[in-house]
Amino acid sequence: MNRLRDAIDDRRDQLVALTQDLIRIPTLNPPGRHYLDICEYLQARLSRQGWRCEMVRAAGSPGDSEAYPRWNIVARRQGARRGDCVHFNSHHDVVEVGNGWTRDPFGAQLDGDRIYGRGACDMKGGLAASIIAAEAFVATYPDHAGSIEISATADEESGGYGGVAYLAQQGAFAHVDHVIIPEPLHKDRICLGHRGVWWAEIETQGRIAHGSMPFLGDCAVRHMGAVLAEMEATLWPLLSGKHTEMPVIPEGARSSTLNINSLHGGATEQDPDYTGLPTPCVPDRCRIVIDRRFLIEENLTEVKAEVTALLERVKAQRPSFRYEVRDLFEVVPSMTDKDAPVVTTTARAIQNVLGREAGYVVSPGTYDQKHIDRIGKLKNCIAYGPGVLDLAHQPDEWIGVQDMLDSAKVMALVLEELLTGQPPG
Ligand SMILES: [Zn+2]
Repeated sequence: MNRLRDAIDDRRDQLVALTQDLIRIPTLNPPGRHYLDICEYLQARLSRQGWRCEMVRAAGSPGDSEAYPRWNIVARRQGARRGDCVHFNSHHDVVEVGNGWTRDPFGAQLDGDRIYGRGACDMKGGLAASIIAAEAFVATYPDHAGSIEISATADEESGGYGGVAYLAQQGAFAHVDHVIIPEPLHKDRICLGHRGVWWAEIETQGRIAHGSMPFLGDCAVRHMGAVLAEMEATLWPLLSGKHTEMPVIPEGARSSTLNINSLHGGATEQDPDYTGLPTPCVPDRCRIVIDRRFLIEENLTEVKAEVTALLERVKAQRPSFRYEVRDLFEVVPSMTDKDAPVVTTTARAIQNVLGREAGYVVSPGTYDQKHIDRIGKLKNCIAYGPGVLDLAHQPDEWIGVQDMLDSAKVMALVLEELLTGQPPG
């Protein structure tokens, strides 16, 4: 059956135009700009074709305000008979532009096979590909079974609480059978899930005194130095020795990792244009924020206990050592079974479209699958979409048109198998 693939190829210009339109709506997060605009754009397009569109504001979620409301859209196309519900979820927010661009970040310039812009790859290209896939499928099989849903959701880049988490809490996934999240994981790979995350702030405490008589105070920065030395000596070696069966990419992330996101001690840093001198004080507080990524073989309790044990070892060495640990954010690992229906169907579609076996990967970071798994209670979920993951959040981010076409074909074939009972063509 090449009808469906032809229907995608016929929509090449539409796919380019749609991607450009989406990039030109600068949905920057933070603070959460133009969320309503992008949802209204999608509503106009899809409702014109008979999709039932629901606009959902995640009122009261983190970041939601009258100035920056957290808007989401869920569009639904009901088939002619009973059957499964296949849901494509994309986040519509993009990260800050940053420096180093040689193109207009919201110009969506088409140059050869590439469309440039912030969010091109992460993930407006994936959103556009899923829409074209669904539209081509519906045109080819107007009396398909089941239903198709396309959602565009807020705030994935800042945790997803004003987006997928909110929708999941409202029961938006209760009737859904299969979820594909078109994040840029490469068109020939299926992403089964992600590692876990624990962010915490560790504070060491001392006593302020005059800097000329430090022996009268207790330096929190020196205490933190001892914590860092203990991490070098024991924690990083321990973490790099833990390996996972999860197929995490890149390879280096197949071990547990820990990053120190920030370190601060002593007087507050002044603005760069401040011309005064600092004052002499012994720092009484020092804080670091740690970003610990953990494996499906680990659990969060033991991950936290490792850090507490480390701090207790330091305390045993330093009589005046005092510390506090504050949890900031946590996500448990998520990994869909390789024999789950959405995985096997997508793998067959990749084989059919690209003529090669699908690769299986797990993300080193985290994305909205966590909310679909934990809050939505739906395991049958993957990330699959066009684009080169490394380009995400970089200057001169781009998406390849051919990549989008190929992955749209894969998504359309998934719909064909799940909603028409036809073997993928
Ligand atoms: Zn993304």
